[in-house]
Amino acid sequence: MRPDLAALPPYRPGRSAAPGGAPVHKLSSNELPFGPLPSVERALAALLGSVNRYPDMAGAELVARLAARHDVDPTQVVLGAGSVEVVSQLVRALAGPGDEVVFAWRSFEAYPLLVAAAGATPVPVPLAAGFRHDLDAMGAAITPRTRLVLVCTPNNPTGGVVDQEELVAFLDRVPVDVVVLVDEAYVEFVTDPAAARGEELFARYPNVVVARTFSKAYGLAGLRIGYGLAPADLARAMRTVAVPFGVTALAQAAAVASLDAGDELAARLAPVLAERTRVVSSLRAHGYAVPETQANFVWLPLGERTEEVTERLLAHAVLVRPFPGDGLRATFGTVAANDDLLVALGPSLAV
Ligand code: PMP
Repeated sequence: MRPDLAALPPYRPGRSAAPGGAPVHKLSSNELPFGPLPSVERALAALLGSVNRYPDMAGAELVARLAARHDVDPTQVVLGAGSVEVVSQLVRALAGPGDEVVFAWRSFEAYPLLVAAAGATPVPVPLAAGFRHDLDAMGAAITPRTRLVLVCTPNNPTGGVVDQEELVAFLDRVPVDVVVLVDEAYVEFVTDPAAARGEELFARYPNVVVARTFSKAYGLAGLRIGYGLAPADLARAMRTVAVPFGVTALAQAAAVASLDAGDELAARLAPVLAERTRVVSSLRAHGYAVPETQANFVWLPLGERTEEVTERLLAHAVLVRPFPGDGLRATFGTVAANDDLLVALGPSLAV
């Protein structure tokens, strides 16, 4: 085995209910609490009889739809088994031993793993006050070895966005041979007009790549489908390192059906956004210093109390995502799940 892999911690997914165990509210992964849209379910059912066939490896129909949606050329669209695979393709297309990849920390926990798995060197840059990306420090961390910078907006697990204006100023400073990924996994939940807009930045800068997913707002986390917008030559390199046939026919069809169901999807987002406002203000009223969130989850910076509070929530059948010693992330669920979360948390002991 490669000796460097032994030192890598495995990816820790959000906790799930024990099979056959008592029902729980699973707020530990950033999923939607709703099942598939009826039109998406029909599209999936129609394909079940043909799973003996390999999928269209190019995903041509979905790629054409995404290209039209983002006003780019189909050669600039890359599919992946979830956007995490798109990020993986990008890292492996650009970076290997001796190369560096800069990202904010804390951020999406797959970043350091994907970089290290490619044999490259992760360069985490601490978040600034308010859990914001410290773009000045990230810019200062760029060296001649830097191949890629990962910008996560909204940031998982802290929920805040990078502003369009500050990202433009950053991109104006980044050397053009350093690629900047704008990871927009949660972009559909963003309501702040000042937030970064990856699609516009992709049109404006030759070194910007955007990653999007159907896992979050579209509610297809279990099907594994995401995509990237990348310059055509880089997109080709990303397809080269992709796992052949990694994106299933079911996932492609569900994504196309989802794009056809824009109105229904918007109607599903509304209750999530309403719950975001309600939960955040309740938490603040309880004395929790939670930062502004533009995603479908909230960050509780509990420090050393993180594990104790996670256990307290578990006793109330509420599963959240702890980052020991740092904080916990709770995804917004149904009204009932969020009510149970708020009751279980109660007033903060910190005040
Ligand atoms: N990027 C970010 C910031 C995420 O939080 C996640 C999911 N945790 C992903 C990418 C990957 O999601 P998926 O592979 O399901 O598209």
